[in-house]
Amino acid sequence: MPTDRDDYEQLRKAVRSLCARYPEEYWRKLDRDRAYPEDFVQELTEAGFLGALIPEEYGGGGLGMGEACAILEEINRSGANAAACHAQMYTMGTLLRHGSEEQKRRWLPGIAEGRLRLQAFAVTEPDAGSDTTRISTRARRVDGGYRISGKKIFISRVEHSDLMILLARTTPLEEVEKKTRGLSAFLVDLREAGDAIRVRPVDTMMNHATTELFIDDLEVPEENLIGEEGRGFHHILSGMNAERILLASESVGDAYYFVDRATRYAGERIVFDRPIGKNQGVQFPIARAYVQARAAAAVRDEAVALYDAQEPCGPEANMCKLLASEAAWEAANAALDTFGGYGFAEEYGIERKFREARLYVVAPVSNNMVLSYVGQHVLGMPRSF
Ligand SMILES: Cc1cc2nc3c(=O)[nH]c(=O)nc-3n(C[C@H](O)[C@H](O)[C@H](O)COP(=O)(O)OP(=O)(O)OC[C@H]3O[C@@H](n4cnc5c(N)ncnc54)[C@H](O)[C@@H]3O)c2cc1C
Repeated sequence: MPTDRDDYEQLRKAVRSLCARYPEEYWRKLDRDRAYPEDFVQELTEAGFLGALIPEEYGGGGLGMGEACAILEEINRSGANAAACHAQMYTMGTLLRHGSEEQKRRWLPGIAEGRLRLQAFAVTEPDAGSDTTRISTRARRVDGGYRISGKKIFISRVEHSDLMILLARTTPLEEVEKKTRGLSAFLVDLREAGDAIRVRPVDTMMNHATTELFIDDLEVPEENLIGEEGRGFHHILSGMNAERILLASESVGDAYYFVDRATRYAGERIVFDRPIGKNQGVQFPIARAYVQARAAAAVRDEAVALYDAQEPCGPEANMCKLLASEAAWEAANAALDTFGGYGFAEEYGIERKFREARLYVVAPVSNNMVLSYVGQHVLGMPRSF
């Protein structure tokens, strides 16, 4: 099946061949046990895929956002779930663009080699929700660094990571001129956190290794502050734009996965003496989902070009995230309908991917927030909150 314009066929092939060693049964068992795909992540790391965005001078692949997107898209298109490891790529946005030279020399080679994992990004809080500027996790200056206390929710892969980027308030909201000021980004070494971070798993409808964090007097040395104190919101935006573009690629991969599977099944399943795919009631939803996936990929490519050129890419990053998550969800429903009762049977894999694909309508930013951003910042309509 043709996909969008493809500059990365060799890379895609390599990812596909690695993923082929992890078939549906592997993911089904992990899903049932709510277990982490350790072997899969290890192999992706050793192959260099998760260090793709780290510049060569720090031991990484030195590739751009386009290649990173191709990697994640292929992982999800194969039936696997890149959510287990995608953060290693988008956390790079913050560290590479705002970390000091010393921080990059200290952390990046270990991440590129696979000795260290930077798979956790801690922003969301129970009392702030989508209003990130309202977070109350507080970092207070002490001799030699900061002492941090607060609560975070839905922080994924903490139990499978050595490092975490954390957003906290360094200046209280009442004391800042703009609410986006006074927040700071820290690189937390989870191996040294001890009892200062208590981790409670949050069970979700899919296998996602997400957790709640209770942070109590966590000491973070001065040298782990990323960028400028008080400018953390701005610094993590690079990470967030990268996250939106990368996760949009996973959704594009999900959409193609469903379209591939549904197309094949529609050609094979015979009911009323003909393949079900002969019926336009079956064919059209699959075709529509395919069209939407292509459109989402095209806007994703626009976002990639801007991101790699270090141009502002907020509108494109947000729009491709919305389009891709909706394309994947449309494709998931088309596939579920095409498979009929078998779509609900675990052994076919459709229901697992159906649950996994739904997340991206809500996270890492809900599509309502995307629309509000587009309405206000792209179209110039009045702000609603
Ligand atoms: C499995 C999973 C993994 C996650 N992993 C991470 C992670 O690793 N790190 C991290 O920091 N976060 C993570 N998140 C959090 C995720 O980013 C948030 O759940 C998401 O941004 C929505 O925030 P919320 O859940 O607080 O919803 P809320 O902000 O409470 O919003 C609830 C609903 O109301 C809508 N809403 C709220 N205000 C408005 C408004 N003004 N206009 C219109 N609609 C509105 C929202 O769109 C949403 O649909 C994860 C979440 C999940 C479920």
